[in-house]
Amino acid sequence: MSNLRFPDASVIRNSHFIMNITADKLADIQNRDILSYENDYRNNLYCPECNKAKLFLRNGTEKIPHFSQSKNSFHDDDCSLNFDRISSKKLQIMYNDNPDEYEIHNRLKKIIGLFFRNNKTGSSPLVVSVSKKKKGSSSSSGIVEETHVKASIPRRLVTSLRDEDLNKIKIFYGEVYIQWVKSQNCSLWNLRMYKGYNEHSKKFFGLCCNLIVTDKVHNYVKKTPSYICNQHCYIAFFGEIEENKSKNNKAYYNCLLKRSEFLTVETLQVL
Ligand SMILES: [Zn+2]
Repeated sequence: MSNLRFPDASVIRNSHFIMNITADKLADIQNRDILSYENDYRNNLYCPECNKAKLFLRNGTEKIPHFSQSKNSFHDDDCSLNFDRISSKKLQIMYNDNPDEYEIHNRLKKIIGLFFRNNKTGSSPLVVSVSKKKKGSSSSSGIVEETHVKASIPRRLVTSLRDEDLNKIKIFYGEVYIQWVKSQNCSLWNLRMYKGYNEHSKKFFGLCCNLIVTDKVHNYVKKTPSYICNQHCYIAFFGEIEENKSKNNKAYYNCLLKRSEFLTVETLQVL
């Protein structure tokens, strides 16, 4: 587990959760204000999910800043980092073939609570129980014995997407600025997610992902806080981000929102 790269970490001081911070933001603090970095952050970084395993920032020699896990530090028993990833076949069933929309929506809401507000509500929202064939289960009798094991759902911070995240079903989450844009001449909506917003010029910057929403799904989204056009928010969605086929437009990624329940937004500020 120690070679894992974390894009974000929890900042905990004197046993109090302060915030979730991205490696990019902390690298920026380290570059601008080394004293603040040393005093306020350096020794206060933990796994963003369980807040137990210690992390440290890797910045400078690496091209992309990220957090790594400190040696001899462990995750909470329930942390999804302790479990193998769910198989892509089982994930496909959860996403495509037979989704439990209500259950998935609940997980997304809990992920925002866990990562950004340190609200722990029972078991990890990133851990699922999946059936597995029992070893040595008899094939001659035709009865396949099954057992259940825990597995983790892959997640990724939407503000630090990489090529390795493309064409894979994951839960994406982050603190973003969103804007709804209706496509011209077609019945699609675009939920644009940005890393920042300039209060002075009233402009968004750092477009990181574009969630494509059909008119049909948009009718359901309309009834939720995601519908507020310009807002600063926490977001979580379940999706598969596509590779951007256009060579001249590598600036952001597209993802089709399959169901309205696969998206949740918690408004921080209406812009
Ligand atoms: Zn953990």
